[in-house]
Amino acid sequence: MIRKLLVANRGEIALRIIRGAREMGVATVAVHSEADRLAPHVLAADEAVEIGPAPSAESYLRIDRLIEAARATGADAVHPGYGFLSERAPFADAVEEAGLIFVGPTGETIRSMGDKTEARQRMQAAGVPIVPGIVDAAKDADEALAAAREIGFPVLLKAAAGGGGKGMRVVEEEGELAKSFEAAQREARSAFGDDSVYVEKYLGRPRHIEIQILGDAHGNVVHLHERECSIQRRHQKLVEEAPSALLTPEQRAEMGAAAVRAAQATKYRGAGTVEFLWQDGEFYFLEMNTRLQVEHPVTEFITGLDLVHWQLKVAAGEPLDFTQEEVRLQGHSIEVRVTSEDAFGGFLPSTGSVHSISVPGGPGVRWDGGITAGTEVGLHYDPLLGKLITWGPDRLTAIIRMERALDELVIRGVNTCLPFHREVMREKDFREGNLTIRYLEDHPELLERPDDPELAEVASIAAALLEHRSRATRAAPRLVEGAGGRMSNWRAFGWR
Ligand code: ADP
Repeated sequence: MIRKLLVANRGEIALRIIRGAREMGVATVAVHSEADRLAPHVLAADEAVEIGPAPSAESYLRIDRLIEAARATGADAVHPGYGFLSERAPFADAVEEAGLIFVGPTGETIRSMGDKTEARQRMQAAGVPIVPGIVDAAKDADEALAAAREIGFPVLLKAAAGGGGKGMRVVEEEGELAKSFEAAQREARSAFGDDSVYVEKYLGRPRHIEIQILGDAHGNVVHLHERECSIQRRHQKLVEEAPSALLTPEQRAEMGAAAVRAAQATKYRGAGTVEFLWQDGEFYFLEMNTRLQVEHPVTEFITGLDLVHWQLKVAAGEPLDFTQEEVRLQGHSIEVRVTSEDAFGGFLPSTGSVHSISVPGGPGVRWDGGITAGTEVGLHYDPLLGKLITWGPDRLTAIIRMERALDELVIRGVNTCLPFHREVMREKDFREGNLTIRYLEDHPELLERPDDPELAEVASIAAALLEHRSRATRAAPRLVEGAGGRMSNWRAFGWR
């Protein structure tokens, strides 16, 4: 068993991991930059080590300082969280070379999934459907053009080493290809030091559906059902849910089995996610994320499993003690990402000091946050302040609870995207589960600030009044016509 865990991260995910470790009797070490001295994750851990100045490159991304902090505190394991070093194979290698347990897959697995062409080859060999296209980098624009003709336009050029949407270009017709190919190569070279670019079919209106998987060190792999994350802005997920409103039990089983094959093909150990694009009844492998995802709580809600507990158990060599058939799927869960961005102002980052925060509670509500009153929100780190997650016995109840919880969540001092989430929860296509990754392009009105100045003033006075009004007198959220279904009867819900 792991005795002492160093958490190589910050913000809400560091706090989430510390909570999971504490529940398992594992001592915790937080690391922090100078700017994060009084951050919630630092105060929550048993010990804390300062690892450098505010910029991530001088603190949270310093492998040498993290290993040194683990040595100095006697930690025997390191959890990378998500982002930062979580998917850097050299970090996993360095942790293991230092004689410590890396809570995640091996460096070799991370490396093989980090290269998109290698990942596509492995998936194809394992019988997992991939987006139609080539599986090797194109040597030059002529080869890319020949491939594109075979695939059929529009196509997508992608950097093999890609991430964060960099080095990606949609090409609508033949005449544009050569120029776009060179641009994608240039971008890939400067972002990743590798200009390999390949070609795949550009899907017009897919949904983003991903499967959570969990593997142990003994070759057992199970999947924990799907999450749908179609509501995105510039490839950043904003709202996630589990299960998807779309899949039938047969499709779920088929996608789940494909994800398990994907994991087995990489000898996967730990928690991971196989991302797929889904269109017209077909699904295609997109990529594998070799870490815990931001949106893991929706899976925890519907399965009753604690993913951080299981990450720690399998990292310590424990086998999974349940079978695929025993993985439950109960009810529906929704997550919204609360960022310090003004959704009505083009998602412009907002900085400043959090004056106060009042978090929601009650049945079926979870707040995973990384801020407290006094937290300084700057530009050094990701704008994610926290995640609001709800559960209900059915999708509509989870939505209604989210509306209620969004009403209760008040963050003052910085602008947040909370007003946007309130709009989404009321929007008809969302209520009906009609989603594609083009959701925001289809609903530009959700990003518009009320432009009538008088109306805006009335709205702000009303908001101020509401905040002072007794919550008991507030109107309950009402069912939207056409949203379908009613709240189901509450049933006893036993947690695993
Ligand atoms: P990155 O690793 O750079 O984030 P991904 O391959 O994960 O790149 O793709 C990021 C996003 O781009 C996806 O979530 C999806 O919205 C879009 N995308 C990727 N591939 C395709 C495709 N073949 N057709 C349409 N959209 C795509």
